[in-house]
Amino acid sequence: MQNVSGTRDLFSDELKKVRLIEQRARDFFTKLGFEEISTPVIEYAEVFVKSLGETTDIVMHQMYSFLDKDGKEVVLRPEGTAPVVRFYINLQVERPKVKFFYVGPMFRRERPQKGRYRQFTQVGVEMFDYPSPQADSYLVFILSEFLKNLNIEHMIQVNSVGCPKCRPSYSEALRNYFSGKPLCGDCQRRIDRNPMRILDCKVDSEIVKNAPEITDFLCEGCKNHFLEFLSFSKNMLDEGILSVNPRLVRGLDYYTGVVFEVFHRSGGNAIAAGGRYDLLAQFMGGKPTPACGFAVGVERLSEFVNLEKAKRTGVFITSMKETFGESFKLLKNILKMRSDGTIFEFKNKNEILGELIKRVDINLDLTKSLKSQLRFADSENFRFALIVGKRELLGGKVVVRDLELSKQEEVKITELFE
Ligand SMILES: [Zn+2]
Ligand SMILES: [Zn+2]
Repeated sequence: MQNVSGTRDLFSDELKKVRLIEQRARDFFTKLGFEEISTPVIEYAEVFVKSLGETTDIVMHQMYSFLDKDGKEVVLRPEGTAPVVRFYINLQVERPKVKFFYVGPMFRRERPQKGRYRQFTQVGVEMFDYPSPQADSYLVFILSEFLKNLNIEHMIQVNSVGCPKCRPSYSEALRNYFSGKPLCGDCQRRIDRNPMRILDCKVDSEIVKNAPEITDFLCEGCKNHFLEFLSFSKNMLDEGILSVNPRLVRGLDYYTGVVFEVFHRSGGNAIAAGGRYDLLAQFMGGKPTPACGFAVGVERLSEFVNLEKAKRTGVFITSMKETFGESFKLLKNILKMRSDGTIFEFKNKNEILGELIKRVDINLDLTKSLKSQLRFADSENFRFALIVGKRELLGGKVVVRDLELSKQEEVKITELFE
Protein backbone atom coordinates (compact mmCIF):
# COMPACT_ATOMS: atom_id res chain seq x y z
CA MET A 1 0.00 0.00 0.00
CA GLN A 2 1.12 3.54 -0.66
CA ASN A 3 0.87 6.79 1.24
CA VAL A 4 -1.28 9.57 -0.21
CA SER A 5 0.31 11.14 -3.27
CA GLY A 6 2.32 14.20 -2.28
CA THR A 7 2.76 13.13 1.33
CA ARG A 8 5.69 11.36 2.91
CA ASP A 9 6.73 9.49 6.01
CA LEU A 10 9.33 11.19 8.16
CA PHE A 11 11.84 8.96 9.87
CA SER A 12 15.34 8.92 11.30
CA ASP A 13 17.46 12.01 10.52
CA GLU A 14 14.72 13.72 8.50
CA LEU A 15 12.38 13.51 11.45
CA LYS A 16 15.11 14.44 13.91
CA LYS A 17 15.76 17.65 11.99
CA VAL A 18 12.07 18.55 11.98
CA ARG A 19 11.80 17.90 15.73
CA LEU A 20 14.95 19.89 16.36
CA ILE A 21 13.49 22.93 14.59
CA GLU A 22 10.19 22.58 16.45
CA GLN A 23 11.98 22.34 19.78
CA ARG A 24 14.21 25.31 19.07
CA ALA A 25 11.16 27.31 17.99
CA ARG A 26 9.34 26.54 21.24
CA ASP A 27 12.36 27.51 23.33
CA PHE A 28 13.17 30.62 21.33
CA PHE A 29 9.72 32.18 21.03
CA THR A 30 8.74 31.29 24.59
CA LYS A 31 11.86 33.08 25.76
CA LEU A 32 10.70 36.15 23.84
CA GLY A 33 7.32 36.14 25.59
CA PHE A 34 5.23 34.55 22.84
CA GLU A 35 2.49 32.20 24.04
CA GLU A 36 1.93 28.91 22.27
CA ILE A 37 -1.48 28.44 20.68
CA SER A 38 -2.67 25.15 19.24
CA THR A 39 -5.73 25.43 17.00
CA PRO A 40 -7.59 22.44 15.49
CA VAL A 41 -6.41 20.91 12.25
CA ILE A 42 -9.98 21.16 10.88
CA GLU A 43 -11.84 24.45 10.47
CA TYR A 44 -14.99 25.62 8.75
CA ALA A 45 -14.18 26.67 5.20
CA GLU A 46 -15.34 30.24 5.82
CA VAL A 47 -12.34 30.83 8.10
CA PHE A 48 -10.08 30.68 5.04
CA VAL A 49 -12.33 31.62 2.13
CA LYS A 50 -12.95 35.12 3.46
CA SER A 51 -9.53 35.76 4.91
CA LEU A 52 -7.23 34.43 2.20
CA GLY A 53 -9.43 35.69 -0.64
CA GLU A 54 -11.71 33.71 -2.91
CA THR A 55 -9.41 34.05 -5.91
CA THR A 56 -6.22 32.86 -4.23
CA ASP A 57 -4.63 29.62 -5.41
CA ILE A 58 -5.07 28.11 -1.98
CA VAL A 59 -8.82 28.69 -1.80
CA MET A 60 -9.51 27.93 -5.46
CA HIS A 61 -7.38 24.82 -5.89
CA GLN A 62 -5.56 23.61 -2.82
CA MET A 63 -7.92 23.15 0.09
CA TYR A 64 -8.77 19.68 1.31
CA SER A 65 -12.46 20.14 2.04
CA PHE A 66 -15.44 17.93 2.73
CA LEU A 67 -19.04 18.27 3.78
CA ASP A 68 -19.49 17.28 7.41
CA LYS A 69 -22.55 15.22 8.35
CA ASP A 70 -24.39 18.40 9.38
CA GLY A 71 -23.86 19.82 5.91
CA LYS A 72 -21.19 22.32 6.83
CA GLU A 73 -18.03 22.55 4.75
CA VAL A 74 -14.96 21.62 6.75
CA VAL A 75 -11.36 21.97 5.56
CA LEU A 76 -7.94 20.80 6.67
CA ARG A 77 -6.19 24.05 7.51
CA PRO A 78 -3.98 25.26 4.67
CA GLU A 79 -2.24 27.91 6.78
CA GLY A 80 -1.99 29.09 10.37
CA THR A 81 -2.80 32.79 10.52
CA ALA A 82 -6.56 32.77 9.87
CA PRO A 83 -7.30 30.22 12.66
CA VAL A 84 -5.19 32.22 15.11
CA VAL A 85 -7.10 35.39 14.19
CA ARG A 86 -10.38 33.50 14.67
CA PHE A 87 -9.21 32.58 18.14
CA TYR A 88 -7.86 36.05 18.89
CA ILE A 89 -11.19 37.72 18.12
CA ASN A 90 -12.77 35.95 21.10
CA LEU A 91 -9.94 37.03 23.33
CA GLN A 92 -9.35 40.58 22.23
CA VAL A 93 -11.76 42.32 24.59
CA GLU A 94 -9.84 41.04 27.63
CA ARG A 95 -6.39 41.00 26.07
CA PRO A 96 -6.06 43.20 23.01
CA LYS A 97 -2.26 43.07 23.00
CA VAL A 98 -0.92 39.55 22.64
CA LYS A 99 1.87 37.60 20.95
CA PHE A 100 1.32 34.00 19.82
CA PHE A 101 3.38 31.29 18.26
CA TYR A 102 2.23 27.97 16.87
CA VAL A 103 3.74 24.74 15.58
CA GLY A 104 1.73 22.28 13.54
CA PRO A 105 0.81 20.56 10.31
CA MET A 106 -0.82 22.36 7.35
CA PHE A 107 -2.41 20.79 4.29
CA ARG A 108 -2.47 21.98 0.70
CA ARG A 109 -3.34 19.95 -2.35
CA GLU A 110 -0.46 21.29 -4.43
CA ARG A 111 0.82 19.67 -7.55
CA PRO A 112 3.39 17.13 -6.35
CA GLN A 113 6.89 18.45 -7.01
CA LYS A 114 10.29 18.23 -5.43
CA GLY A 115 10.38 19.86 -2.01
CA ARG A 116 6.61 20.47 -1.88
CA TYR A 117 4.42 18.21 0.17
CA ARG A 118 0.70 18.18 0.77
CA GLN A 119 1.20 17.91 4.50
CA PHE A 120 3.89 20.12 5.90
CA THR A 121 4.78 21.69 9.23
CA GLN A 122 4.79 25.39 9.93
CA VAL A 123 6.15 27.36 12.84
CA GLY A 124 4.35 30.68 12.95
CA VAL A 125 4.33 33.86 15.00
CA GLU A 126 1.52 36.43 15.23
CA MET A 127 1.53 39.77 17.07
CA PHE A 128 -1.77 41.58 17.71
CA ASP A 129 -2.20 45.26 18.52
CA TYR A 130 1.26 46.17 17.27
CA PRO A 131 0.85 49.01 14.76
CA SER A 132 4.36 50.47 14.56
CA PRO A 133 6.98 49.96 11.86
CA GLN A 134 9.29 49.00 14.74
CA ALA A 135 7.07 45.97 15.34
CA ASP A 136 7.61 44.90 11.72
CA SER A 137 11.34 45.37 12.16
CA TYR A 138 11.28 43.38 15.38
CA LEU A 139 9.43 40.56 13.63
CA VAL A 140 11.99 40.37 10.85
CA PHE A 141 14.77 40.63 13.42
CA ILE A 142 13.60 37.72 15.59
CA LEU A 143 13.02 35.60 12.49
CA SER A 144 16.58 36.29 11.41
CA GLU A 145 17.91 35.49 14.89
CA PHE A 146 15.91 32.27 14.99
CA LEU A 147 17.47 31.20 11.68
CA LYS A 148 20.92 32.20 12.90
CA ASN A 149 20.40 29.96 15.93
CA LEU A 150 19.95 27.09 13.51
CA ASN A 151 23.00 28.17 11.51
CA ILE A 152 20.88 28.96 8.46
CA GLU A 153 22.50 31.45 6.10
CA HIS A 154 19.64 33.55 4.80
CA MET A 155 18.48 36.64 2.94
CA ILE A 156 15.29 38.61 3.57
CA GLN A 157 13.43 40.40 0.80
CA VAL A 158 10.97 43.09 1.83
CA ASN A 159 8.32 45.22 0.19
CA SER A 160 5.11 47.10 0.95
CA VAL A 161 1.89 45.95 -0.70
CA GLY A 162 0.10 49.16 0.25
CA CYS A 163 -3.36 49.57 1.71
CA PRO A 164 -6.94 49.91 0.37
CA LYS A 165 -6.23 53.61 -0.13
CA CYS A 166 -3.26 53.23 -2.45
CA ARG A 167 -3.54 49.72 -3.86
CA PRO A 168 -6.42 50.43 -6.31
CA SER A 169 -4.39 52.97 -8.26
CA TYR A 170 -1.48 50.53 -8.49
CA SER A 171 -3.80 47.72 -9.61
CA GLU A 172 -5.14 50.06 -12.27
CA ALA A 173 -1.63 50.85 -13.48
CA LEU A 174 -0.89 47.12 -13.67
CA ARG A 175 -4.10 46.46 -15.60
CA ASN A 176 -3.11 49.09 -18.14
CA TYR A 177 0.38 47.65 -18.42
CA PHE A 178 -0.63 43.99 -18.69
CA SER A 179 -3.68 44.25 -20.92
CA GLY A 180 -2.90 43.11 -24.45
CA LYS A 181 0.33 41.38 -23.35
CA PRO A 182 0.71 37.64 -24.12
CA LEU A 183 0.30 36.41 -20.54
CA CYS A 184 -0.29 32.80 -19.51
CA GLY A 185 -3.88 31.57 -19.10
CA ASP A 186 -3.91 31.98 -15.32
CA CYS A 187 -2.65 35.53 -15.56
CA GLN A 188 -5.17 36.47 -18.27
CA ARG A 189 -7.80 35.74 -15.65
CA ARG A 190 -5.87 37.66 -13.00
CA ILE A 191 -5.79 40.93 -14.97
CA ASP A 192 -9.29 41.84 -13.89
CA ARG A 193 -9.53 40.21 -10.51
CA ASN A 194 -6.12 40.61 -8.98
CA PRO A 195 -3.39 41.95 -11.28
CA MET A 196 -0.82 42.11 -8.45
CA ARG A 197 -0.77 38.33 -8.40
CA ILE A 198 0.71 38.35 -11.91
CA LEU A 199 3.96 39.68 -10.42
CA ASP A 200 4.34 36.25 -8.79
CA CYS A 201 4.02 34.30 -12.02
CA LYS A 202 7.06 32.27 -12.98
CA VAL A 203 5.92 31.87 -16.60
CA ASP A 204 5.56 35.56 -17.33
CA SER A 205 8.67 36.86 -15.58
CA GLU A 206 9.95 38.54 -18.78
CA ILE A 207 6.78 40.63 -19.12
CA VAL A 208 6.70 41.35 -15.39
CA LYS A 209 10.23 42.79 -15.51
CA ASN A 210 9.09 46.15 -16.84
CA ALA A 211 5.81 46.43 -14.94
CA PRO A 212 5.21 49.52 -12.78
CA GLU A 213 6.52 49.27 -9.21
CA ILE A 214 4.26 49.72 -6.19
CA THR A 215 6.79 51.99 -4.50
CA ASP A 216 5.69 54.78 -6.85
CA PHE A 217 2.04 54.37 -5.85
CA LEU A 218 2.16 54.09 -2.05
CA CYS A 219 0.11 56.64 -0.10
CA GLU A 220 1.80 58.91 2.40
CA GLY A 221 1.02 56.62 5.34
CA CYS A 222 2.24 53.44 3.65
CA LYS A 223 5.36 55.14 2.32
CA ASN A 224 6.39 56.57 5.69
CA HIS A 225 5.70 53.28 7.47
CA PHE A 226 7.78 51.38 4.96
CA LEU A 227 10.72 53.82 5.03
CA GLU A 228 10.80 53.80 8.82
CA PHE A 229 10.63 50.02 8.81
CA LEU A 230 13.53 49.91 6.36
CA SER A 231 15.84 52.22 8.26
CA PHE A 232 15.08 50.53 11.59
CA SER A 233 15.55 47.04 10.14
CA LYS A 234 18.87 47.93 8.58
CA ASN A 235 20.11 48.85 12.04
CA MET A 236 18.88 45.68 13.66
CA LEU A 237 19.81 43.08 11.06
CA ASP A 238 23.27 41.85 10.16
CA GLU A 239 24.70 43.40 7.04
CA GLY A 240 23.76 41.85 3.71
CA ILE A 241 20.60 40.13 4.92
CA LEU A 242 17.97 42.70 3.93
CA SER A 243 17.04 43.80 0.43
CA VAL A 244 14.01 45.50 -1.13
CA ASN A 245 12.15 43.57 -3.82
CA PRO A 246 9.45 45.82 -5.31
CA ARG A 247 7.88 42.82 -7.09
CA LEU A 248 7.24 40.92 -3.88
CA VAL A 249 3.47 40.66 -3.34
CA ARG A 250 2.77 37.39 -1.45
CA GLY A 251 0.00 35.10 -2.62
CA LEU A 252 -2.61 36.01 -0.01
CA ASP A 253 -5.11 38.85 0.02
CA TYR A 254 -4.93 39.71 3.70
CA TYR A 255 -1.60 41.50 3.70
CA THR A 256 -1.38 45.28 4.04
CA GLY A 257 1.84 47.26 4.12
CA VAL A 258 5.08 45.48 4.96
CA VAL A 259 5.58 41.96 3.54
CA PHE A 260 8.70 39.82 3.43
CA GLU A 261 10.09 36.52 2.22
CA VAL A 262 13.14 34.69 3.46
CA PHE A 263 15.47 32.59 1.32
CA HIS A 264 18.47 30.45 1.96
CA ARG A 265 21.68 32.04 0.67
CA SER A 266 21.94 29.31 -1.91
CA GLY A 267 18.57 30.34 -3.38
CA GLY A 268 15.54 28.14 -4.05
CA ASN A 269 12.02 28.56 -2.75
CA ALA A 270 11.22 30.75 0.26
CA ILE A 271 11.81 29.11 3.64
CA ALA A 272 9.73 31.67 5.54
CA ALA A 273 7.39 34.54 4.78
CA GLY A 274 5.12 37.00 6.48
CA GLY A 275 3.94 40.54 6.82
CA ARG A 276 1.38 42.94 8.19
CA TYR A 277 -2.34 42.25 8.08
CA ASP A 278 -4.03 45.21 9.78
CA LEU A 279 -7.49 44.57 8.33
CA LEU A 280 -7.83 40.85 8.89
CA ALA A 281 -9.27 40.82 12.43
CA GLN A 282 -11.94 43.33 11.44
CA PHE A 283 -12.60 41.44 8.23
CA MET A 284 -13.21 38.23 10.17
CA GLY A 285 -15.68 39.90 12.53
CA GLY A 286 -13.46 41.32 15.25
CA LYS A 287 -12.41 44.81 16.21
CA PRO A 288 -9.90 46.58 13.97
CA THR A 289 -6.48 45.36 15.12
CA PRO A 290 -3.10 46.15 13.62
CA ALA A 291 -1.19 42.88 13.47
CA CYS A 292 1.73 41.15 11.83
CA GLY A 293 3.31 37.72 11.69
CA PHE A 294 5.27 35.15 9.78
CA ALA A 295 5.41 31.43 9.12
CA VAL A 296 8.42 29.19 8.62
CA GLY A 297 8.24 26.05 6.47
CA VAL A 298 9.82 23.51 8.80
CA GLU A 299 10.52 20.70 6.31
CA ARG A 300 11.94 23.12 3.81
CA LEU A 301 14.13 24.63 6.50
CA SER A 302 15.21 21.18 7.66
CA GLU A 303 17.03 20.62 4.37
CA PHE A 304 19.56 23.19 5.56
CA VAL A 305 19.88 22.00 9.15
CA ASN A 306 22.86 19.93 10.18
CA LEU A 307 22.42 17.49 13.01
CA GLU A 308 25.27 17.26 15.41
CA LYS A 309 27.09 13.98 15.17
CA ALA A 310 24.98 11.58 17.16
CA LYS A 311 26.53 11.04 20.56
CA ARG A 312 26.42 7.69 22.27
CA THR A 313 23.68 7.78 24.82
CA GLY A 314 21.76 5.58 27.22
CA VAL A 315 22.17 2.22 28.82
CA PHE A 316 21.54 -1.26 27.44
CA ILE A 317 20.81 -4.02 29.95
CA THR A 318 21.92 -7.49 28.93
CA SER A 319 20.04 -10.55 30.06
CA MET A 320 20.38 -14.33 30.16
CA LYS A 321 17.86 -16.99 30.99
CA GLU A 322 19.05 -17.46 34.56
CA THR A 323 19.40 -13.74 35.33
CA PHE A 324 16.44 -12.33 33.44
CA GLY A 325 14.55 -11.45 36.65
CA GLU A 326 17.47 -9.45 37.97
CA SER A 327 17.90 -7.64 34.68
CA PHE A 328 14.25 -6.67 34.77
CA LYS A 329 14.59 -5.43 38.34
CA LEU A 330 17.34 -3.11 37.13
CA LEU A 331 15.10 -1.82 34.37
CA LYS A 332 12.29 -1.26 36.85
CA ASN A 333 14.55 0.77 39.14
CA ILE A 334 15.82 2.80 36.25
CA LEU A 335 12.30 3.58 35.06
CA LYS A 336 11.40 4.65 38.57
CA MET A 337 14.25 7.12 38.46
CA ARG A 338 13.02 8.50 35.21
CA SER A 339 9.47 9.09 36.28
CA ASP A 340 9.61 10.21 39.89
CA GLY A 341 12.55 12.52 39.47
CA THR A 342 14.51 11.11 42.39
CA ILE A 343 17.59 11.16 40.22
CA PHE A 344 17.92 14.83 40.96
CA GLU A 345 18.39 14.08 44.66
CA PHE A 346 21.43 11.93 44.05
CA LYS A 347 24.66 13.42 45.24
CA ASN A 348 26.56 11.10 42.92
CA LYS A 349 26.31 12.73 39.55
CA ASN A 350 28.40 10.23 37.69
CA GLU A 351 27.98 9.73 34.03
CA ILE A 352 26.19 6.43 34.24
CA LEU A 353 23.33 7.92 36.19
CA GLY A 354 23.17 10.78 33.73
CA GLU A 355 22.85 8.30 30.90
CA LEU A 356 20.27 6.22 32.72
CA ILE A 357 17.63 8.91 32.59
CA LYS A 358 18.12 9.57 28.89
CA ARG A 359 17.53 6.19 27.32
CA VAL A 360 17.26 2.59 28.43
CA ASP A 361 16.62 -0.71 26.70
CA ILE A 362 16.82 -4.38 27.64
CA ASN A 363 17.60 -7.58 25.75
CA LEU A 364 14.45 -9.66 25.22
CA ASP A 365 15.91 -12.51 23.21
CA LEU A 366 17.31 -15.01 25.69
CA THR A 367 18.85 -17.19 22.97
CA LYS A 368 21.31 -14.42 22.14
CA SER A 369 24.86 -14.70 23.40
CA LEU A 370 26.29 -11.96 25.57
CA LYS A 371 28.70 -11.12 22.80
CA SER A 372 25.96 -10.52 20.26
CA GLN A 373 23.96 -8.50 22.79
CA LEU A 374 26.94 -6.22 23.29
CA ARG A 375 27.44 -5.96 19.56
CA PHE A 376 23.81 -4.87 19.20
CA ALA A 377 24.15 -2.27 21.99
CA ASP A 378 27.24 -0.93 20.28
CA SER A 379 25.59 -0.67 16.87
CA GLU A 380 22.58 1.12 18.41
CA ASN A 381 24.92 3.75 19.81
CA PHE A 382 24.34 3.06 23.51
CA ARG A 383 26.94 4.56 25.84
CA PHE A 384 26.88 1.89 28.52
CA ALA A 385 25.92 -1.76 28.83
CA LEU A 386 24.91 -3.18 32.16
CA ILE A 387 26.07 -6.79 32.05
CA VAL A 388 24.04 -8.87 34.45
CA GLY A 389 25.99 -12.07 35.19
CA LYS A 390 25.25 -14.85 37.62
CA ARG A 391 28.62 -14.67 39.30
CA GLU A 392 28.55 -10.89 39.80
CA LEU A 393 25.00 -11.00 41.11
CA LEU A 394 26.17 -13.20 43.98
CA GLY A 395 28.24 -10.25 45.14
CA GLY A 396 25.36 -7.83 44.52
CA LYS A 397 27.20 -6.41 41.53
CA VAL A 398 26.84 -5.84 37.82
CA VAL A 399 29.46 -5.07 35.21
CA VAL A 400 29.20 -1.59 33.72
CA ARG A 401 30.77 -1.55 30.29
CA ASP A 402 31.63 1.74 28.65
CA LEU A 403 30.99 1.04 24.97
CA GLU A 404 32.80 4.15 23.84
CA LEU A 405 36.05 3.51 25.71
CA SER A 406 35.70 -0.30 25.61
CA LYS A 407 36.42 -0.47 29.33
CA GLN A 408 34.43 -2.12 32.06
CA GLU A 409 34.31 -2.48 35.81
CA GLU A 410 32.20 -4.14 38.45
CA VAL A 411 29.86 -1.85 40.31
CA LYS A 412 27.67 -2.61 43.30
CA ILE A 413 24.00 -2.40 42.32
CA THR A 414 23.26 -0.38 45.41
CA GLU A 415 25.91 2.11 44.38
CA LEU A 416 24.34 2.44 40.99
CA PHE A 417 21.16 3.71 42.53
CA GLU A 418 22.52 5.55 45.50
ZN1 LIG B 1 -1.54 53.05 1.55
ZN1 LIG C 1 1.35 34.01 -15.73
